[in-house]
Amino acid sequence: MLALACLAGLLSGCADRNGVSGVVFAMDTAMSLTVYGKNAEAALAECETEIKRLDMLFSATNPESDIARINSGAGGFVEVSQETADIVRQSVALSELTGGAFDITVYPLVLEWGFFSKDYKVPDGETISELLGEVGSSRIEVDGNRVKIEAGQKIELGAVAKGYLTDRISEILESHEIKRANISLGGNILVVGRRPDNNLWRIGLQDPSNPETHFGVLEAENTAAVTSGDYQRYFEEDGVRYHHIIDPSSGYPAASGIRSVMIVTDNGIEADAFSTAVFVMGRERATAFWREQGGFEMVLVENDGGVYVTDGIKDGFTLADNVAYTLHVLS
Ligand code: AMP
Ligand code: MG
Repeated sequence: MLALACLAGLLSGCADRNGVSGVVFAMDTAMSLTVYGKNAEAALAECETEIKRLDMLFSATNPESDIARINSGAGGFVEVSQETADIVRQSVALSELTGGAFDITVYPLVLEWGFFSKDYKVPDGETISELLGEVGSSRIEVDGNRVKIEAGQKIELGAVAKGYLTDRISEILESHEIKRANISLGGNILVVGRRPDNNLWRIGLQDPSNPETHFGVLEAENTAAVTSGDYQRYFEEDGVRYHHIIDPSSGYPAASGIRSVMIVTDNGIEADAFSTAVFVMGRERATAFWREQGGFEMVLVENDGGVYVTDGIKDGFTLADNVAYTLHVLS
């Protein structure tokens, strides 16, 4: 599993003998961490504890979690930790910022499609219309450490929890004065400093058509790179692939022409929300969003084999040899 976790992200560093490595299973994925330096063991231990704490706090399926309590108390205010209230407040703001492409209230639809139970099904149109009526983050109220969603609504943080965790891990590493680390939270990458040989880290981008291989590599330092793709969780029925990223305006898996998006920025929670949102938006809307918003870079892969890399990272990106993709630069 460690090998797989490494494949999903970093192309080097996993077996470096000077680093301390650990693997944690949380948020339904394998997370691998390699930390370098004299405080590496203490930093790694604290990161592992933090991963488990946030897994408990945000899990929608653990009935005692803050998120599950908000859901079961729908219709009234529920007291939660300040941290949960803050991430819900940020998620509401990110929903507005992305024009509703990212929306934590799509959860009833995600459940209906079976992406939590893994009992997959294509819901009928009537059910989808009904559940769409419950979608809308603007109806969430956050007051101090109390959160209220409307009766019928349900929320889930799967599209931002790992990004938030990335930010927390980054803070922990900094508090231990760690100057080098590579962290892969099920494909969400955080690289601190450079590799032990002082070269840039090499982040592999999984090929949506063949996720065991990479279609490209991004060389980077001190950054978070978050990927959303149609190959990460999906089922097939009658030759159609139904994946886990739901378009909050239609209730169906987003059919924007994008197969995969990597967002690159030093802000993990934003990177994660934007990866989901950009996938829903499609290239044109996403490019306009990137130009207006600024502060992040991206790599898009489209159905027809087009790979689009934004200006700010084009020099660090290399398309793999022998892949059937065509490279374009967005500026
Ligand atoms: P990510 O892999 O970060 O793109 O997040 C996808 C996960 O977030 C899915 O497994 C769902 O649980 C949830 N989700 C799906 N569509 C959306 C959406 N449009 N906005 C927010 N969360 C979503
Ligand atoms: Mg996301």
